[in-house]
Amino acid sequence: MRVVHNVAELRIAVKAMREKGFRIGFVPTMGFLHEGHASLIQQCKNRCDATVVSIFVNPTQFGPKEDLATYPSDLEADQSLCLKLGVNLLFLPATAEMYPSAFQTFIEPGAVAEPLCGKYRPGHFRGVATVVAKLFNMVQPDLAFFGQKDLQQTAVIKRMVRDLNLPVDIAVVPTLREYDGLAMSSRNIYLSTDERKRARCISLGLFAAEAAFMAGERDTASLLTRTNECLWGVDELQYCELVDAQNLDPLVGQVDRAAAICVAAYVGSTRLIDNIILSPNQA
Ligand code: AMP
Repeated sequence: MRVVHNVAELRIAVKAMREKGFRIGFVPTMGFLHEGHASLIQQCKNRCDATVVSIFVNPTQFGPKEDLATYPSDLEADQSLCLKLGVNLLFLPATAEMYPSAFQTFIEPGAVAEPLCGKYRPGHFRGVATVVAKLFNMVQPDLAFFGQKDLQQTAVIKRMVRDLNLPVDIAVVPTLREYDGLAMSSRNIYLSTDERKRARCISLGLFAAEAAFMAGERDTASLLTRTNECLWGVDELQYCELVDAQNLDPLVGQVDRAAAICVAAYVGSTRLIDNIILSPNQA
């Protein structure tokens, strides 16, 4: 596994892969890797000839009161995992490499970035879209992998790729969960033992709605009630919404197309998000 820290080295390494005719896959991350990240990397290995992973905690996607300064990190463990998984190229840029002084150009996502997390994290998706566009320009992958756990992020990126004609395909990988259903997240490390137990209610609420949906329930209000009834363990619910899975518009009445129930909540001081897709064709 080659490890590079700057864009010039990255471009040379990627060029060598491309000259071999390799189909290049890319998995952008913020590190503190867990099995969810590993499943993205695994999928990338399965579908591409060369796998590029980046680890960069992107300051422009954090709000002033968010956890940028305390975001967990274990670069040594991340590197060994990448090596074990057969990653070919690991990109570890410093902040000054990604955002040189006088940096001032951003990608401004549209309506898809406004609801859900967009309401509670102003500027977050602008930062995400900007760093992902930069990484795409640096790596120039054929295929890039993102987790369904960050559903709105996938919608913003897919929209950006279409709107700006970026020459990359986007693959969305299902959410990996802990034994009790909690969606894996680097931020789960913040949870105390009691909070960790209570955090479980979010996925249980989503599974309750999914079970009702599989049993034929199509009424959006009833499905949301199934989830809400389980959310006893959270300290502050930011949103629990049923939306169109593609454009994230709210769905009211009947679920007549692919939909998602999306939740964001604080358990203690940790903000957790999760979602479940409800697809009328699958039920
Ligand atoms: P992050 O390091 O949190 O920015 O995540 C990097 C990528 O991993 C994103 O595309 C996430 O959606 C994805 N990811 C995070 N958690 C999970 C999970 N539990 N299952 C699958 N993918 C995930």
